[in-house]
Amino acid sequence: MIIDCHGHYTTAPKALENWRHQQIAGIQDPAQMPKPGDLQISDDELRESIASNQLRLMKARGSDLTIFSPRASFMAHHIGDFQVSSTWAAICNELCFRVAQLFPDHFIPAAMLPQSPGVDPATCIPELVRCVEQWGNVGINLNPDPSGGHWTSPPLSDRAWYPIYEKMVEYDIPAMIHVSTSCNACFHTTGAHYLNADTTAFMQCLTSDLFKDFPTLRFIIPHGGGAVPYHWGRFRGLAQELKKPLLKDHLLKNIFFDTCVYHQPGIDLLTRVIPVENILFASEMIGAVRGIDPETGHHFDDTRRYIEASTLVVGDDRHLIYEGNARRVFPRLDAALKAKGR
Ligand SMILES: [Zn+2]
Repeated sequence: MIIDCHGHYTTAPKALENWRHQQIAGIQDPAQMPKPGDLQISDDELRESIASNQLRLMKARGSDLTIFSPRASFMAHHIGDFQVSSTWAAICNELCFRVAQLFPDHFIPAAMLPQSPGVDPATCIPELVRCVEQWGNVGINLNPDPSGGHWTSPPLSDRAWYPIYEKMVEYDIPAMIHVSTSCNACFHTTGAHYLNADTTAFMQCLTSDLFKDFPTLRFIIPHGGGAVPYHWGRFRGLAQELKKPLLKDHLLKNIFFDTCVYHQPGIDLLTRVIPVENILFASEMIGAVRGIDPETGHHFDDTRRYIEASTLVVGDDRHLIYEGNARRVFPRLDAALKAKGR
């Protein structure tokens, strides 16, 4: 079985985007503020948006199940206040839940949180609880920078985040550390802000003792971990200077990386540097990079090809990356699969 731990609903019907634009207009002019019930998307529209896109590509590329969360760049936590984020998160999470209901063999939901800059992260807990308890979400996406590229929140090691971590530990769910769109012109959203955030999140964990306080807390750092695997020696050296334990003891019981790296040399480096137990298969498809690589003739984000072509990841290791690690990092996913005899 091949589990893709990183997929977003990037192909939602246009009505969703229209509703969001109206909501943003309503921030300035409350008379324009739409109600959640004003958004009407039928099951047939949801089915079509998935069957002709993500599911079609999953079947073509041979992945079986996607952990499916709302479109990351659309989370845009910097827009509006907590109430705006709260309504928006609830709508987006409900759509992913409905997709999972319509295609239960192929999608299982992960939640976005109603984060808002300067607002206590504990305010996200009711939505988190609802998504896990009522809608079967197996993980969350946690945005370390709800300001959208201005980094006004404390680091992930700060106690302000602890209420979310306590809930994650209670439910035994991981968080993918995932920023949203950049509203800072210095940082391109998917080319700079995403990768910066991946690297930044890792370093915030490295300099802290977060996982002493939460030994079972688990983070997935997406996009292959940003610059982390490439600069592993720098991080090992910094940890040594900071008198931290070896990274395998300090961070690798808690931090995992996905395979959203869009060329063979990158995947080869990731799998050479990071222990196989810490790598989860993912494509982030249909996402930021949708084109065909002229050097290979295949889509950049067809990441299974790189694993299949790897001479480093073979046999049982391949099974860990495709399935075994995802079941371990997402115990609620494992339980949901086992309940279906999978
Ligand atoms: Zn993503």
